[in-house]
Amino acid sequence: MFEKILIANRGEIALRIHRACHDMGIKTVAVHSTADNEAMHVRLADEAICIGPPSAAESYLNIPAIVSAAEISGADAIHPGYGFLSENAKFAEIVEDHGLTFIGPKAEHIRMMGDKVEAKRTAAALGLPLVPGSDGPLDDLDEAQTIANEIGYPVLIKAASGGGGRGMKVVTSANELETQISQARSEAKAAFGDATVYLEKYLGNPRHIEFQVFGDNHGNAIHLGERDCSLQRRHQKVLEEAPSPAITAAQRADMGGIVANAMAKMGYLGAGTIEFLYENGKFFFIEMNTRLQVEHPVTEMISGLDLVREQIRVASGLPLSVTQDQVTLKGHAIECRINAEDPRTFAPSPGTVTGYHTPGGLHVRVDSALYNGYKIPPYYDSLISKLIVYGDDRNDCLMRLRRALEEYIIQGPSTTIPLHKDLLESEEFIAGTYSIKWLEEWLMKTQ
Ligand code: ADP
Repeated sequence: MFEKILIANRGEIALRIHRACHDMGIKTVAVHSTADNEAMHVRLADEAICIGPPSAAESYLNIPAIVSAAEISGADAIHPGYGFLSENAKFAEIVEDHGLTFIGPKAEHIRMMGDKVEAKRTAAALGLPLVPGSDGPLDDLDEAQTIANEIGYPVLIKAASGGGGRGMKVVTSANELETQISQARSEAKAAFGDATVYLEKYLGNPRHIEFQVFGDNHGNAIHLGERDCSLQRRHQKVLEEAPSPAITAAQRADMGGIVANAMAKMGYLGAGTIEFLYENGKFFFIEMNTRLQVEHPVTEMISGLDLVREQIRVASGLPLSVTQDQVTLKGHAIECRINAEDPRTFAPSPGTVTGYHTPGGLHVRVDSALYNGYKIPPYYDSLISKLIVYGDDRNDCLMRLRRALEEYIIQGPSTTIPLHKDLLESEEFIAGTYSIKWLEEWLMKTQ
């Protein structure tokens, strides 16, 4: 087992990883920008090394500085968290080339899944159902016209290297196709450095349902059920729950079995998430994330497993701590993403926290790096806290979540806590019948 792990991240996820390390008796090294000198992940780590100025490009994305920090501190392994370098295959290779362990999948799998066209091809070969669309990148307009006519409008143009819900264009009719493709290409080139785009059927009213998978170096691959992430704004997740209110135990076992087999065939190592859209009883693969997800705690709540511990175990060469038969999913969990943003306009609201009180009690978890007096820097993601609540069933979970949100006090910056409180009173959310379109429509109606 590793003795010292460098955490190449910041905020709540750096703290989350630090906690798993200390629970396992492993020392931690924090890295940070000059904007994060006073951050909680820096304060709690066994060692901390400044790796650059505030801009992420010069600090949390600065590969030479991070690898040097690992060498200087004598770390054995690097955990990338999510975002930043977590899905950078080159980084994974450089880490391994320096004799350190990258806590994540093999570089070849990160690379394969990072290219969404390649990911869809791989998924199809592994027997996963796909959203109908182009088999590969769109090369010419005639081809795009033919495919779009075949599958029917509306269609979606997506960037092969896209991420974070960006780089997508809905096309509603044939005469828009040409301009939308060329716009999508230039936006993709500017945002991701890759102009490759592909085409998919734009599903009318799907849910976003994703499966958590895990593989080890001993030929084992398991699934830990699904998470429903249909509550989205601008294709970004706002609240997640497990299990999904929309699927049955039989569907879970079926699809879970399919994804776990696919991972076993690939020889996949570590944590991964297979994302599907779900409509009219059918699943359609959209992408795979080769890292820990922001919403992993809901799976931890219903499975009783520490997913970061599992990541560290399998990266060190140990087998997964459970077999598929030993996985029991029980009860219901919901996570609210709390951002430092205006709860209605979503304008960022960085600044100093002048009062702070976290909710507590049985089955209530707060993953956050906030503290009273902390100054939220303006340079990074606006996610400042995740409130995760467990209940015996969905109704019990909703009751406890309402109570926990009432208790949560963050003074100073605006936060999205009031948005979550309102959401929990809406009929469709309570009924669990929402799709990925619902939140934006609800926001317009209740403006
Ligand atoms: P990203 O990597 O940018 O997150 P995804 O492919 O995971 O992109 O898609 C993000 C979100 O965009 C999905 O959760 C869904 O809301 C929407 N989306 C993606 N593909 C489709 C589609 N074919 N039809 C309708 N909505 C889609």
